[in-house]
Amino acid sequence: MTAEILNGSEIAKEIRKKVGEEAADLKEKHGFVPGLTVIQVGDVPESSAYVRMKEKAAKKAGLLSRAVKLPSDISTEDLLKAIDEQNNDDDIDGILVQLPLPDGIDEIEILSAVKVEKDVDGFNPYNVGLLSILNDGFIAPATPVGIMELIHRSGVEIKGKHAVMLGRSNIVGKPTAALLLKEHATVTICHSRTVDLPEVTSSADILVVAVGRPLMVTEEYIKNGAVVIDVGVNYTEDEEKVKEVYKDHPEFIETFKKKGYNYFGDVHFPQGLKKAGWITPVPGGVGPMTIASLLKNTLELAKRRRLNR
Ligand code: NDP
Repeated sequence: MTAEILNGSEIAKEIRKKVGEEAADLKEKHGFVPGLTVIQVGDVPESSAYVRMKEKAAKKAGLLSRAVKLPSDISTEDLLKAIDEQNNDDDIDGILVQLPLPDGIDEIEILSAVKVEKDVDGFNPYNVGLLSILNDGFIAPATPVGIMELIHRSGVEIKGKHAVMLGRSNIVGKPTAALLLKEHATVTICHSRTVDLPEVTSSADILVVAVGRPLMVTEEYIKNGAVVIDVGVNYTEDEEKVKEVYKDHPEFIETFKKKGYNYFGDVHFPQGLKKAGWITPVPGGVGPMTIASLLKNTLELAKRRRLNR
């Protein structure tokens, strides 16, 4: 069996285009432009890259896009003030605080300070609570929203299926498990203490993997015909390993040669491709969907706040 590839880049492009059209429509009919602020504390290169991508994508979709960059030694008090400025800015509909925050800053205190109505990534504990009691009206974090869209695109019905979420982080694992449950999957959450992991994961009709361990999920972890969503993004400069893993995928090797690096997923993609029914590639799977979902969430919050929808 060769799995069908769920092309996150293509689907994300489609979503971004739709967001752009809807944003233009809101401007024409209601005279406002949805606004997104991304707050970055410190200058961890990976965070800077993510912030740049989010900023650029928002601009391209015609949203008001603002990046607030703050020094890593900022006090909690000053960071709270910066968040409050955005909370009180009527042009801004969505506020995202890029994680992780520097040591010494209390993440929960900061995420709680983002106004619930502007909490575009759904990390304010109030929104987390709404999601976990499966109430309506919550905004789910962008990565899980993107993951769910990819599963929907497989055409596989979620209701009644066994879904395994491998990883239990607050930003990916737990909210994704909650969304799967909301759609009536039977959900198992696995983590580093799970005993006999391959036995559990290979019973999954839907397997979502977010562990941050390159190529960990090999064929014995995967049920024949399953939907496999690979969230992992693992930087590699190991040319020999890339050549070994991707020997049948010259395009991946070409990209590596051009850039001098590439990214492995948490899933061994060539093995997954042979075993799964649907699979996401890395790069080009969940990553672009995260950004598209962030724009979608911004639009949603703008409509709720400004049009009472
Ligand atoms: P975390 O490090 O917060 O969580 C990793 C989870 O994996 C933990 O629950 C951990 O278990 C579990 N885990 C680690 N090792 C093993 C193991 N050997 N066996 C079983 N479980 C294990 O990671 P994140 O959720 O933040 O991210 C996961 C991956 O997804 C990363 O590669 C990250 O870069 C990527 N990512 C990609 C995004 C995108 O948009 N494409 C967005 C966010 C993340 P335990 O809880 O027991 O420690």
